[in-house]
Amino acid sequence: MNLSALRSNLEERGYKTSFFETAQEASRYLNQEIDGVSVGIGGSVTVQEMHLSESLSGHNQVLWHWDQASLSAVAKTDVYISSVNGLAETGEMINIDGSGNRISSTLFGHKKVYFLVGMNKIAPDYEKALHRARNVAAPLNAKRLRRNTPCAEKGDRCYDCKSPQRICKALSVFWEKPDLAGEAEVVLINQKLGF
Ligand code: SF4
Repeated sequence: MNLSALRSNLEERGYKTSFFETAQEASRYLNQEIDGVSVGIGGSVTVQEMHLSESLSGHNQVLWHWDQASLSAVAKTDVYISSVNGLAETGEMINIDGSGNRISSTLFGHKKVYFLVGMNKIAPDYEKALHRARNVAAPLNAKRLRRNTPCAEKGDRCYDCKSPQRICKALSVFWEKPDLAGEAEVVLINQKLGF
């Protein structure tokens, strides 16, 4: 993977980028950048693995996507933090959502959005990033959530199911940062994080 080409492709598409060797270094940076504001966190295993909610809570108001009571408040926070299901080296970012609030928050409504991306999320081009999102990330998430879907049994690929418990309801492709999306930064981390 050519890191400088990836960063340049993302920057041409309207994103600020940063790079860290470890989740710990990225976490330290984010705790410096995000201070004294309200923060919404999407359903993200990457964010969980980085224990960001815990560290940011010490000096921000942090609201989790998984807390149903705070869902509408999450949509109004200053900062929103998410990951992606696939990032192409050419710069396209892909997310799959079941409830819709993660995609919604990454598109509009916050002053700044951070996309935290471990190296395992990166694919050489758009088609492969899409394939990764659908056939790697989504099945593993369905398995983690113990959904009654064909992919959850093996976590091997998408079966494009019609299950009532299907987790794939919407797909977003970021070709560029949308005009009204606020500032957006892709934080690249040289570790395996999330699915
Ligand atoms: S569409 Fe169904 S089978 Fe495919 S990844 Fe989503 S939940 Fe699994």
